[in-house]
Amino acid sequence: MDILYRSTRGDARQVKASEAILQGLAADGGLFVPERLPAFDKTLEEFAGMTYQETAYEVMKLLLTDFTEEELKACIANAYDDKFDTGEIAPLKEADGAYFLELFHGKTIAFKDMALSILPHLMVTAAKKNHVKNEIVILTATSGDTGKAALAGFADVPGTRILVFYPKDGVSRIQEKQMVTQKGQNVRVVGIHGNFDDAQSGVKRLFADQELAERMAQKGYQFSSANSINIGRLVPQIVYYVYAYAQLCRTGKLSFGEKMNVVVPTGNFGNILAAFYAKNMGLPIHKLICASNDNKVLYDFFATGTYDRNREFVLTNSPSMDILISSNLERLIYRIAGNDAGKNAALMQSLSGAGKYEITEEMRGALSDFYGNYATQQECAGKICALFKNTGYVMDTHTAVAAAVYDKYREETKDETKTVIASTASPYKFTRSVMAAIDSKYESMDDFALVDALSAISRVKIPAAIEEIRTVPVIHDIQCEIDQMKQTVEDFLHL
Ligand SMILES: *Cc1c(COP(=O)(O)O)cnc(C)c1O
Repeated sequence: MDILYRSTRGDARQVKASEAILQGLAADGGLFVPERLPAFDKTLEEFAGMTYQETAYEVMKLLLTDFTEEELKACIANAYDDKFDTGEIAPLKEADGAYFLELFHGKTIAFKDMALSILPHLMVTAAKKNHVKNEIVILTATSGDTGKAALAGFADVPGTRILVFYPKDGVSRIQEKQMVTQKGQNVRVVGIHGNFDDAQSGVKRLFADQELAERMAQKGYQFSSANSINIGRLVPQIVYYVYAYAQLCRTGKLSFGEKMNVVVPTGNFGNILAAFYAKNMGLPIHKLICASNDNKVLYDFFATGTYDRNREFVLTNSPSMDILISSNLERLIYRIAGNDAGKNAALMQSLSGAGKYEITEEMRGALSDFYGNYATQQECAGKICALFKNTGYVMDTHTAVAAAVYDKYREETKDETKTVIASTASPYKFTRSVMAAIDSKYESMDDFALVDALSAISRVKIPAAIEEIRTVPVIHDIQCEIDQMKQTVEDFLHL
């Protein structure tokens, strides 16, 4: 039976998966959600015998029901191929009693590749299915990793263009260099004078701009999104939780049906929402541990039931989590409001007005699957150093937020359930912060000397993504103010 998608804000129109992917955001500004979450139709034992690609098909077919088997399998084959530096696609590494699910073996060495390797294929297939003749313009706000992964995915894909806005002073040096050196006839990268929330809110405003949409349509363009507001980002992210569970069973670390915890370093709430969807589709997950950095708006939300973004935006060394407006939380709010779009819309109205909202006691009761906590930069540095000294394993600054929060969770609850930590970026992407955490002697070295030093101490080969940017020239050197984002789009498209 077809799964249809509807807006979290009340637009009654239901659309097919391919239409939801093409649109990105619903017309009323809400996010598309599946009308229900289907149960897996394969057993855990069957999953344990599958490759990543086979798992992806069995999971994604349940939610992307208007894609044919042939279409979906072609998308999967084109996405999860030798762009990944390991056949496992998402390997598990055991260290210090936890299982690190390494989601950074794709082309741009962050977990965004897990979904953005396949999104362009889903999008092009969806355009064909829906007889879309317009060129699709991917408009993206990035806190550092989505931008590069989306650029790599969409560069020179026929029928698409991509424009990325990143916070000029809010990403790591390596992240910025990865983006501004992106090749491709259809790409543009712009640094904005603002933070990620400014970029994301600006992009959402452009999506909602009817006058702009009409002018674009006249010239044969339409927007879509590569951010995790697009359901085509979320669905592929469910896959690796199933795969991780199955691998733990296959290797005898878990028995079939035994529960696992998942710790996710969280920003826009997309990755952890995918784990929540996996749980609701039948994966034996005990706790979903939501780890925040100093921008601990989600921790406060889980602790108090009030979401309040009125606070200082802190620039940390886990920049991809420097977010105060967690877009995907809206999908969870909608669900715990009993799929009541009216209730959700009122809360989101309050968020865009007063900057905060409070959920009811009853809704809070529905959050028992989650545990929230946060870790400071100092705690994360301590954890990176300690893990390296104890085990030789080097993790990045985002994964460190998760690992440090996991320590707090274990201490508080004494819960010994086997635990998977979503390892969201390669340490090579945040070399400066990682190496400084390990030893202050590294602080004076330049970026690429640090890369070499990291390789020496971790004995992990330098990823191609890093070797590539050592010498390549900067291609994109454009900056703009927040209120010039519309003009930037008009220039890009010659409107
Ligand atoms: C995007 C990102 C996150 C946050 O993921 P969300 O899905 O936005 O919660 C965490 N770590 C890294 C390295 C990221 O790139």
